[in-house]
Amino acid sequence: MDVKIYEYDAVIVGSGLAGLAAAKELTEAGKKTAVITKLHPLRSHSGAAQGGINAALGKDDSTELHEFDTVKGSDYLADQDCVELMCTKAPETIRWAEQMGAVFSRDEQGDIAIRPFGGQSQPRACYAKDRTGLTLLQTIYEQAHRAGIEVFDEWYAGDIIYEDDKVSGVVAYDIKNSKPAIFNAKVVMLATGGHGRAYRFNSNAHANTGDALSIVARHGLPLEDMEFVQFHPSGLGGSGVLISEAARGEGGRLFNSEGERFMTKYAPNAMELASRDVVSRAIMEEVRQGRGVGKDGQSVNIDLTHLDPEIILTRLPELRELAIAFQGQDMLKEPIHISATAHYSMGGIPTNINCQVRKSPTEFVEGFYAAGECSCVSVHGANRLGANSVLEALLFGRHAGENMLKALDDGLSLRKASVSDADTMIEEMNRLKTSGGNESVPNIRVELQDGMTKNAGVFRTKESLEEQVALIDTLQAKFANICIDDKSNTFNTDLQEALELGHMLEFSKFIVVGALNRNESRGGHFREDFPTRDDENFLKHTYAYMDKDRNITQEWGDVVIGKFEPMERTY
Ligand SMILES: Cc1cc2nc3c(=O)[nH]c(=O)nc-3n(C[C@H](O)[C@H](O)[C@H](O)COP(=O)(O)OP(=O)(O)OC[C@H]3O[C@@H](n4cnc5c(N)ncnc54)[C@H](O)[C@@H]3O)c2cc1C
Repeated sequence: MDVKIYEYDAVIVGSGLAGLAAAKELTEAGKKTAVITKLHPLRSHSGAAQGGINAALGKDDSTELHEFDTVKGSDYLADQDCVELMCTKAPETIRWAEQMGAVFSRDEQGDIAIRPFGGQSQPRACYAKDRTGLTLLQTIYEQAHRAGIEVFDEWYAGDIIYEDDKVSGVVAYDIKNSKPAIFNAKVVMLATGGHGRAYRFNSNAHANTGDALSIVARHGLPLEDMEFVQFHPSGLGGSGVLISEAARGEGGRLFNSEGERFMTKYAPNAMELASRDVVSRAIMEEVRQGRGVGKDGQSVNIDLTHLDPEIILTRLPELRELAIAFQGQDMLKEPIHISATAHYSMGGIPTNINCQVRKSPTEFVEGFYAAGECSCVSVHGANRLGANSVLEALLFGRHAGENMLKALDDGLSLRKASVSDADTMIEEMNRLKTSGGNESVPNIRVELQDGMTKNAGVFRTKESLEEQVALIDTLQAKFANICIDDKSNTFNTDLQEALELGHMLEFSKFIVVGALNRNESRGGHFREDFPTRDDENFLKHTYAYMDKDRNITQEWGDVVIGKFEPMERTY
């Protein structure tokens, strides 16, 4: 098959905030950089971020307080050196974005406005109405373009070239005509975003299928802390579409079917602004005890009707429109139905503070970097605070760019690529296209998603997780027997969905096995059979590896503790 070989200094997969921030740094420094993305950059999920981006700008705030809230919110699993870097550089990152042209909302004094978010002792989420991510993504896309980045959009990355502890390229195909190509490079970065589509009830874009996680794992490289999935308290009932935490930040109150403001029982001080894991469990507990609302009783009410309508119209206009469009409920006039929705992946491709990918807890892969939601650096530990992720993507994306630049200037060489480097991806594409079985991709996907929400969701037990491992094994067997209708080479979305499902089945098993092995409850991971945190045995990062038969083995890695010793979390 005709396989084109491109040569670059740097190749980046993903054009969300993390990928574009790195690409801008590299291109401005004169490095030949390609960005591969399966979507147009402006359709990346970063553009859906509504609520804000954290920085300690308030007069009573400090970067140390931001660090403390982040570490406490992480249930002490975050690496504190990385948290310190993120929080101390956050104010500068906001100025950087502003100087590039991002227009943030302002307060009466004309300063950048900040609003309260869950789990934070001070208001510190900077925002552009409720379109923060889109504003930042448009800004950085313009600037990266101005610098001259080369974008291969609607290209699907299916493999990396990994040999002798070094990554030297990416294998991808053009979605338009299915033609494969090799992107040979001195440094490679993955910035492929989140994996929320593995769950039935989720807030994520359709593209968030976590492809890079299994691409990396197939080479025997580890994934870190995959059991930690964040369930956001406020997905619209029925669809899971996000109602940003800004709704609670601006004063939204939660009520059950009996009209009780139930957070008084679960977090009497922080109430609706306790951290996300706490509020999600409270909501699901009310539902389990039969105090839910909505047709199926699976939601609770969030009420904003006591707010000045001007606040909703000026600060939350998009949220109001979403609730009207999806549920016919106008938050100006009535409470709206919400429920906990799979939202964010705390785990991912392990990296050190310089975004270099780890081969094990203590070894590294040359020329290989990751940043943003697909990575685990780890600043969120077991639970991420709202408005820390856009910050992480932008800040660590840029930081990865700077570190790749250093590595290039230190003299990394270009390995010669050969056409056979593309064999694995091409074989996979051919196998899926020609497989003449009788199973369908959408059916297997729905079974996986339903199982993940039911068995590996907000509440987990040994039995539910074992059931999910068995289900994934069954679905893998079915997947070997699929049939896709479209055999063509032109915009073959059937083929792409099959590739994505293959990835979802693989990384989902990391989530479930990690959750099964972690006999404690911490942050977003709640085991009903082990309901407390166990620092003695589990104040550790999970490193999990997949073998050729898709069995998963695990080892533990150290957590970097800094100035904040683990304490009990109270809200
Ligand atoms: C609805 C919603 C609201 C949110 N609101 C906030 C908020 O207010 N504040 C906050 O801090 N965080 C928020 N988050 C989280 C935050 O937006 C994300 O974690 C962050 O933007 C991720 O950025 P990223 O650059 O890592 O990935 P993304 O922006 O998701 O980009 C991923 C990129 O990878 C590409 N890609 C993926 N797989 C492949 C492949 N196989 N081949 C080629 N390209 C590929 C995609 O095309 C895309 O360009 C929100 C998330 C959601 C879902």
